[in-house]
Amino acid sequence: MPLQNLDAMIGQEHDLDSVNDALRRYVQLMGTRMIGAIQITCSDEAELECLKSFHERFCQYLLPDLKMFHRMAMNTANLGARYERASLWITTQHFSTGDNPNQPLVIVARINSHVGKENTPEGLRFGLLHRYGQESTACGALNILLQGQSNAEYIHELEEQLRMDNLDRIALLRDPNKVCPEYRSLYAAITNAVIQSRRVLHDAETLDLHRQTSFLILASVTLNSTAPDTDLVCGYHHLQVTPAGRQHTYHGLGDNPARYQLTQRDGKLLVFENQKSISNTVNI
Ligand SMILES: [Zn+2]
Repeated sequence: MPLQNLDAMIGQEHDLDSVNDALRRYVQLMGTRMIGAIQITCSDEAELECLKSFHERFCQYLLPDLKMFHRMAMNTANLGARYERASLWITTQHFSTGDNPNQPLVIVARINSHVGKENTPEGLRFGLLHRYGQESTACGALNILLQGQSNAEYIHELEEQLRMDNLDRIALLRDPNKVCPEYRSLYAAITNAVIQSRRVLHDAETLDLHRQTSFLILASVTLNSTAPDTDLVCGYHHLQVTPAGRQHTYHGLGDNPARYQLTQRDGKLLVFENQKSISNTVNI
């Protein structure tokens, strides 16, 4: 099967390996051999396939040897797949290898929020996952956030992050006139992935770099189910830092859940926005 273009995947559900193959191809075409990566996921054990696919289809091909026969991305896993400030900087330090300061570096940040997805006789259902003989929430952390019944520190962090730029995305997600309740869990996961990718970008923009560096920050939602998990590609930032300046490009969905529209094509999810372009380029 030919590799699919990353841009053509935005807003669409694909199998995990196809997305990671497209990501690998995208980075290979950038033409550098100095490549590093960080993977950011929720702690939920349901993210197993997401972790495994990125490791096998991207890291094993493109990362330097950590030890003989072992290659590995930096990774952080926490409740809600929150980006941990400074982890991009440490990743950049780790993978800035070799003696040639003129060799460009590429750092990939792969971020996955997640949601349970199930086909039922009544239609698609999001937010629950059948495991260990019972149903449980997925993502549990985002579900607690939407319920608004916890004072835990990670909930406060998510609340603050999802209210970035003074847009109360949590209120929008809770409002049945703004977001269809049946899609609330899915849209919360998309919004979270897009917001977390913006937080990684913000960190990337503030790094003091001494070599040409490109950051590729991919936001996705893992769709967990009893069938093989799939990946809904939300968008990606490409930030290039050169002596001449910085250029930033974003291709993907925005971070306002009230704008998302959901449909299906060939049995796969397709998310788009009812306003706003999904692409822009900014010179910084
Ligand atoms: Zn989770």
